Amino acid sequence: MKKIYNFSAGPATMPESVLKKIQKEFLSYQGSGMSVMELSHRSSLFQKIIDDAESLLRELMEIPSNYEVLFLQGGASLQFSMIPLNLAKHKVAYINTGLWSKRAILEAEKIASLEVEVIASSEDKSFNAVPEVPMVAQDNDYVHITTNNTVEGTAFFKLPETGSVPLIADMSSNILSSYYDVSDFGLIYAGAQKNIGPSGLTIVIIREDLIGLNKSLSAMLDYKTQADNNSIYNTPPTFSIYTAKLVLEWLKDLGGVAAIEKINREKSTLLYKAIDESALFRAPVEKSSRSLTNIPFVTDNDELDKQFIKEAELAGFVNLKGHRSVGGMRASLYNAFPLEGVQALILFMQQFEKKITKG
Ligand SMILES: *Cc1c(COP(=O)(O)O)cnc(C)c1O
Repeated sequence: MKKIYNFSAGPATMPESVLKKIQKEFLSYQGSGMSVMELSHRSSLFQKIIDDAESLLRELMEIPSNYEVLFLQGGASLQFSMIPLNLAKHKVAYINTGLWSKRAILEAEKIASLEVEVIASSEDKSFNAVPEVPMVAQDNDYVHITTNNTVEGTAFFKLPETGSVPLIADMSSNILSSYYDVSDFGLIYAGAQKNIGPSGLTIVIIREDLIGLNKSLSAMLDYKTQADNNSIYNTPPTFSIYTAKLVLEWLKDLGGVAAIEKINREKSTLLYKAIDESALFRAPVEKSSRSLTNIPFVTDNDELDKQFIKEAELAGFVNLKGHRSVGGMRASLYNAFPLEGVQALILFMQQFEKKITKG
């Protein structure tokens, strides 16, 4: 098999040892004669998988006992709707930092009775940094933030002051990649396919007092139904939950969030340094807002960008094309992306630059 490095923004690189473990136990899960895909979601074997996944996540993120962990479907995108439906009464505040936060704002605005205020935005800077966030008015039902902006490559390194207003975070692209104090948040959500496992699973971590506020919701859209039924009100994405459990075990064995954060800092520091030292490549994001997990870079020449992406792919560096809304290149370096891959990419970039400037 050809060795490649996959820089995809999601679904993304998985730890190789996890893929091997899945392969090994794929046909008969723990001697049951059944694949994990064939287990009933009400079986004791699956119950143990989902219980283990939850307790590993609680341990890794130090989730306090007054928070529920929910395993849902519909992607982070369904949370854009579920959050206002469940938590909003009159008025909510959003921070606009790019494509995904805009989508979240759009869904909140569809709720007719709701006043949606964008209290900070970096749209005037083409989202190349995160904005200063003013103190949040205390009559808001919540404030929504995207902690890491996957498309634009920006991240918040300081959380806004929200007083007693619950802070709601879309952590889809940086959950478990650096430390957060869960008690700073009312709710954290993330699609699994970037840092946790395959697509099909969405993690929601919600403070208990925020569950059951809206009594007139459809069962599947209501956090209370999901919490009361321990995420198996209906059939959950069993295979994705199983895989997530293996990834969480892998992360725990590695030393947990503190250990992976150190590696993630090393990976991103190396790549930013190489980009900053280059005469050909440039990082469009302001230094103070640079994401650890999604790193855009450009040559400021569309044809050269295209050539670089094409030659990189031939050399085994795949999915380096930037999001269609911003162009250029983007390297996504989630937890499972290896340090050697970053080192190899840097070498390739240097060789490309030498070739281009010589020509
Ligand atoms: C990928 C992503 C989403 C969308 O996730 P889906 O699971 O595809 O709905 C939302 N927010 C952020 C920050 C993302 O990175």
